[in-house]
Amino acid sequence: MSSILSEIFEAAKTVRAIAQGMAVTLSYIPKQKLTRQYPDVPVELYPRFRGEHYLARDENGKERCVACFLCAAACPADAIYIEADEDLRPYAERPGMEPRYARVYNIDYGRCILCGYCVEACPKDAIKHGHNFEMAVTNFADLVKDKEYLLSNLEREKTRNLTLRSDA
Ligand code: SF4
Ligand code: SF4
Repeated sequence: MSSILSEIFEAAKTVRAIAQGMAVTLSYIPKQKLTRQYPDVPVELYPRFRGEHYLARDENGKERCVACFLCAAACPADAIYIEADEDLRPYAERPGMEPRYARVYNIDYGRCILCGYCVEACPKDAIKHGHNFEMAVTNFADLVKDKEYLLSNLEREKTRNLTLRSDA
């Protein structure tokens, strides 16, 4: 008897869950439909959208990254690979704003989940999210973006034709 009651109870729970799900689905039927005409019409993004990263430079164009590895340590997807180096030449001659810099800085977008933890972890404001989301490639290896690409993303970000949403 008790097993019949528990089966009825379980069935009632299932019916209730289905009804709740269908109620959400049905509630959208009378709402206005919105069709995005992408890629003919650019997508509107929120200012804080987390797209493909760029590596930032200081006011004199020097790389801000000091290869401290904090971003790589914070990354839950193990997507960042860095090799550190030192350039002891004067500020004007070296690539970075400090002698220590990243000789290699790769982000593997086959692993990255665009969570933003690396940006939060960086003490030098050296890594930022841009707004590019068109990152599809036909070769898996092309998902690994190197330092030169990430640095040049700064310029792409400045010239990107963005339509930002203001209702955030
Ligand atoms: S956005 Fe997240 S997953 Fe991507 S590199 Fe940064 S910490 Fe890793
Ligand atoms: S991007 Fe920032 S956190 Fe990552 S190694 Fe460079 S300075 Fe450190």
